[in-house]
Amino acid sequence: MDIKFGAAGNSNLFYEQGNKSSLKMPAWLAEMGLNAYEYQCVRGVRIKEEFARKLGEEARAHNISLSIHAPYYINLATEDPQVKEKTKGHIIKSLRAAHWMGALTVVMHPGGGAGKDRAAAHQRAKDLLTEVLKEAREEGLEHIRLAPETMGKINQLGSLDEILDLCTVAENVVPCIDFGHLHAVTQGSLKDKESFAHILDKVSSALGEETVKKLHVHFSPVEFTKGGEKKHQTTLEKEFGPDFTPLAELIIERKMEPVIICESNGRQAEDALVYKRIFEKVRDQSIKDLGPLAPERS
Ligand SMILES: [Zn+2]
Repeated sequence: MDIKFGAAGNSNLFYEQGNKSSLKMPAWLAEMGLNAYEYQCVRGVRIKEEFARKLGEEARAHNISLSIHAPYYINLATEDPQVKEKTKGHIIKSLRAAHWMGALTVVMHPGGGAGKDRAAAHQRAKDLLTEVLKEAREEGLEHIRLAPETMGKINQLGSLDEILDLCTVAENVVPCIDFGHLHAVTQGSLKDKESFAHILDKVSSALGEETVKKLHVHFSPVEFTKGGEKKHQTTLEKEFGPDFTPLAELIIERKMEPVIICESNGRQAEDALVYKRIFEKVRDQSIKDLGPLAPERS
């Protein structure tokens, strides 16, 4: 099974151990037993080509699958022509950086509040995304998957339905399913396997089985209020969900090969490892349950 677990950006521990450059991250993650890294461009794409290419080499040398998180400043729903141009720039620059480093996926927030007319805002987001994709194609960047993320606040564009609809714009647009955000936006509804299955089924019926199989996932414990997401927590704070076990069971049952990126606050790599251990436990149990004729684990 080609399932990947990794970190969004660099854990506090990475710096506490004296590391400074993200170029060390692929080796550091591999040493921990992880195999994915989401490089953070959330405050702007400032990465230079040489650095990006070096990071790509490091990642390949250590068998780490790369993705990029695009800037928070993206606002696909804006009516301001200047913000529109900036939004396009952020996305194109992120795609270029992904191309340099050999990253497969660029995650982005659709951006902007939903406003009074949510449907109109969503339509503007779709239109601008179509425009950006045209420019990306002209630059030969269409081999990189662009992944709008499900958002955690009720008043933000980026509900599951909105994200799935955005993904119908082009073949290389796929959803980034942030289960922590979906848990927060639904006031903690992800409590059992059925609730996780419901999300996967929705993705599948909107975008097909293959999209579910290769799903890009964000997973972390999220604290929420009535308005949705308040703060990303860590697995050390036991009161915050969602639990990873139901998703692990579904990944095995449905033979999925997702990339699971953990965005825990300061412990993104350590918690990715917690999720990987849960997955391995569930997998080993399911092999046991199959009895002596079960195929050997890979
Ligand atoms: Zn995000």
